Amino acid sequence: MKAAEIRQTFLKFFESKGHQIVASSAVVPGDDPTLLFTNAGMNQFKDVFLGFDKRPYTRATTAQKCIRAGGKHNDLENVGYTARHHTFFEMLGNFSFGDYFKKDAIAYAWELLTEAFKLPKDKLWVTVYAEDDEAYEIWNKQVGVPAERIVRIGDNKGARYASDNFWMMGDTGPCGPCTEIFYDHGPDVAGGPPGSPDEDGDRYIEIWNNVFMQFNRDEAGVMHKLPKPSVDTGMGLERITAVLQGVHSNYEIDLFVALLAASKKAVDAAGGGDCDKDSPSLKVIADHLRACTFTVIDGVIPSNAGRGYVLRRIARRAIRHGYKLGARKPFFHTLVPALVEQMGEAYPELRQGAQRAAEVLKQEEEGFFRTIANGMEILERALATGTRQIDGETAFKLHDTYGFPIDLTADVCRERGVTVDQPGFDAAMERQRKEAQAAGKFKMAQGLEYTGAATTFHGYEALLHETAKV
Ligand code: ATP
Ligand code: MG
Ligand code: MG
Ligand code: MG
Repeated sequence: MKAAEIRQTFLKFFESKGHQIVASSAVVPGDDPTLLFTNAGMNQFKDVFLGFDKRPYTRATTAQKCIRAGGKHNDLENVGYTARHHTFFEMLGNFSFGDYFKKDAIAYAWELLTEAFKLPKDKLWVTVYAEDDEAYEIWNKQVGVPAERIVRIGDNKGARYASDNFWMMGDTGPCGPCTEIFYDHGPDVAGGPPGSPDEDGDRYIEIWNNVFMQFNRDEAGVMHKLPKPSVDTGMGLERITAVLQGVHSNYEIDLFVALLAASKKAVDAAGGGDCDKDSPSLKVIADHLRACTFTVIDGVIPSNAGRGYVLRRIARRAIRHGYKLGARKPFFHTLVPALVEQMGEAYPELRQGAQRAAEVLKQEEEGFFRTIANGMEILERALATGTRQIDGETAFKLHDTYGFPIDLTADVCRERGVTVDQPGFDAAMERQRKEAQAAGKFKMAQGLEYTGAATTFHGYEALLHETAKV
């Protein structure tokens, strides 16, 4: 089954169980200043869970475009390093708004995986929230999953990949305990089962999360009960496709094989010659192509603040990986048609906006190609000293003069086992901000510049804050 068929099978399965098929919302959330990008299928239903909005249905199913490149769920640093993380991915979901709860949600998930998709039961592991005896009993008694493949997990705060069975959309908003389903890719892959010390590996891959939405978390961290217990689930299309296509990595599924081949061709044509087809850099490019194209299509353009800066960071990261493979002129934007070929049918907005997206990305690329060579030379010189840490001043100069976002510099350094002095970088940024402010005051005093009244719009401040955190 191709990824496109798997998406359809999921939606049709839940339609047959009385769910309304609802279109994906944009990757840019409409009016939610707490969110940088749509990070889960439930985002567009947030107000329905909270009881502020009512729909003509109590059950829905979606394939949702998601981006996790900032804020609470941020996978940017994982791309190119794990087999299962993307910045952009599709989340398949089924939702109950005060309709069914734990028992039916678990039964549906099991039926889809073991009957419709025919996955072998002994390859599936489940986790439940540590105190959720009810979910444990349903899995064990009703579904028949043996105790040795059910793991109880608490809220594992702080660990980078560690399972965390209390799902939250962000620091505030709907949340609740969850139960997750993992697939065992077999002993050839390194990694331990969920909850074990080496669960970070890619052997046991989390494919589906079923969240039992019961609370709204406020800014003070207080949990308020939702009007009705609800269900929100999310299964990564790319992960379930890998399982069903008998491959281990998301990057080996049909859609990515095509994007990787196109990426290699584009890089080769731009100066790469015959670059290594297995380079992780090609994975980064193919991944970032999706994130950048969909972001532009939903109305963002590269800039120095908020969402536009996240887009710029992702685009420049992809461009740098192309540069690493030998590309010396714009190549990234030429990949848009390959993406349209893979996903245009499922997402018609992609076809409609492709040309504009390519133009926007081309402009960004032309801009960065003007400074990348000189910036890389400076960075290479600093790395050649054998230092274990790039100093904040160098990182700041790369940022300020050569357009290297700090995470791009860190990405290059990480490949060499070197870190970046983040506090030093922050101090240099702060110094520049103060200097600019003082210069602005001076100009105002001289009557050289008119500045309008200060605006207060906290939504963007929140976004900038998000950007600063990632
Ligand atoms: P992981 O622990 O692997 O990072 P997660 O627990 O952060 O995943 P959830 O927030 O539970 O993920 O999201 C629901 C589902 O979406 C996951 O079970 C997974 O199938 C998929 N998913 C999550 N993050 C990504 C990603 N970055 N790339 C691809 N699929 C993802
Ligand atoms: Mg995660
Ligand atoms: Mg997880
Ligand atoms: Mg999860």
